Amino acid sequence: MTESSTLPAHDWPTLHPGWVWLCGAGPGDPGLLTLHALNALRQADVVVYDALVEPAILDWAPQARHVYAGKRGGKPSALQRDISLQLVDMARQGQRVLRLKGGDPFVFGRGGEEAQTLVQHGIPIRIIPGISAGIGGLAYAGIPVTHRDVNQSVTFVTGHDQSGNTPQSLDWAAISKGSQVIVIYMGMKHIAQIAGALIAAGRPLSEPMAVVTTATTATQSVLETTLGACVADIDAARLEPPAIICIGRSVLMRQTLDWQAMAAGAAPRHLDPLGRGRPAESA
Ligand code: SAH
Repeated sequence: MTESSTLPAHDWPTLHPGWVWLCGAGPGDPGLLTLHALNALRQADVVVYDALVEPAILDWAPQARHVYAGKRGGKPSALQRDISLQLVDMARQGQRVLRLKGGDPFVFGRGGEEAQTLVQHGIPIRIIPGISAGIGGLAYAGIPVTHRDVNQSVTFVTGHDQSGNTPQSLDWAAISKGSQVIVIYMGMKHIAQIAGALIAAGRPLSEPMAVVTTATTATQSVLETTLGACVADIDAARLEPPAIICIGRSVLMRQTLDWQAMAAGAAPRHLDPLGRGRPAESA
């Protein structure tokens, strides 16, 4: 593989003609791509990419044709099947196909269905995981998705189902009771309904919450709010998707860990926001 000359020495896999590699592009910042993703970009004849893939990443595949397959906002999509079948066609034509999806391809991205269609049509595949917005996006906001003093579990939920509604199958009362930290993808449209359900299930109005839009990109914004105030605050700040919403006390850690603000010269707002009262490393 000649194109991998700028990758570190390693036995990099070859993207063979007729194969489809289903690959995560991470949440935005091109530096959050994996080396496997870069290796794939270098070899592809065609890159089929989603709306949430940062455009700069495509510049790393100048030799490839770039095909946009995006859809946004949880709209019902007859297109999903078309995209999968388009990938099948491209592979059958003997192209080296890179299917690039935002974040991780298997996290709320229908990657499982696409991969299944490919396998059903006899197309050989490789899966390349990516950094999911619900973990990496929060980290860029200074929010650790788990923290020993806050949560021993985390629940990732989608605010949309295939019809664009809040998923009927989600038991918000159970989620509320069972999970100290809740991370919501695609939650902006139904945030009033979701917050209402969590409050009805007993979560306090004062529960810390963060809304991170276009996380890890140059336009990232972070709103710190509470379950009770979130609807008004999101409205006042005129926030638009894509956004990751985090509900739980781990959001408080941002007062210490807002590393982007600190890099820009700000002092940490608080050194012990969880009120541990002892050094962070002690048991
Ligand atoms: N597979 C992706 C998620 C796809 S669903 C992943 O693993 O991250 C799309 C949703 O992901 C968006 O509506 C939003 O909730 C979230 N998302 C993806 N990228 C994001 C970003 N850069 N900033 C904030 N949210 C993002």
